[in-house]
Amino acid sequence: MSLAIVLHEPRMLVNIAGVVRAMANMGLSHLTIVDPAEFDPWRITGIAHRTDHIVDRITQAASLDEALAGATYVVGTSARPRTAQRNYRRPRELATRILERARNGNVAIVFGREDRGLSNEALDRCHEVLVIPTQPGHSSLNLAQAVLLVSYELLLAGSTAPDSLPSGKRSLGPATAAELEEMYAALEEGLARIEFFKARKPESVMRVLRTVLGRTGLDAHEARLLRSVGYEVRNWTDRHRNQRGVPGESEPGDD
Ligand code: SAH
Repeated sequence: MSLAIVLHEPRMLVNIAGVVRAMANMGLSHLTIVDPAEFDPWRITGIAHRTDHIVDRITQAASLDEALAGATYVVGTSARPRTAQRNYRRPRELATRILERARNGNVAIVFGREDRGLSNEALDRCHEVLVIPTQPGHSSLNLAQAVLLVSYELLLAGSTAPDSLPSGKRSLGPATAAELEEMYAALEEGLARIEFFKARKPESVMRVLRTVLGRTGLDAHEARLLRSVGYEVRNWTDRHRNQRGVPGESEPGDD
């Protein structure tokens, strides 16, 4: 099973230690930390005793993209729904799916920084966004407690998870975050070439596409096909422009 907890820019070492302890309690062992404000394995194991099996294997990444490059299913976590429409889910609803995806690929569950949570750009990297139910007006949990509740749901779901179904022969396995980013870049380029965005904001259009496609669980083969759709639109418009003697977009003297 491949399931990593990812902390994005945590501010306080005591919270990293709290996360490590929660993971040990609930049986998780892969922790990736992106650009922490402070990090000291010795102090972490001083606070969270008998967690060397987790702390020794902590991976550090310089950026969220680097941390998620090999991930095939990314779940963000947020205290409150933002204005943008996203695939918001409750932990209990998502726990079984997370375990199922972790059997066939690399799952990452991303937690934001203590003072401002995850940015919109970080949430764009997530297939779904998990929101732990709370009292209205007190939605923001302590980082380590949020990790504890999510891992607890995973522990409970683990004892009842059904065996995974066989996948089709052609399936190449789920698309990685890096493959998906390439696909979105190609689609955005294709849409820009046919002037789809006009009065629309590319960022908002792409966010809706990410939300829709994030729900589907694309495999690598499907992601490549959609990437080709983007590239072929680009290539077709370039050929068409050239046939009419109109210079392509990349050339100087653009129309
Ligand atoms: N002030 C921030 C809260 C940050 S709390 C904000 O309003 O977004 C630090 C992190 O803990 C969050 O980024 C999220 O990963 C997690 N977290 C806190 N409360 C949560 C909740 N109710 N549901 C899911 N995750 C939560």
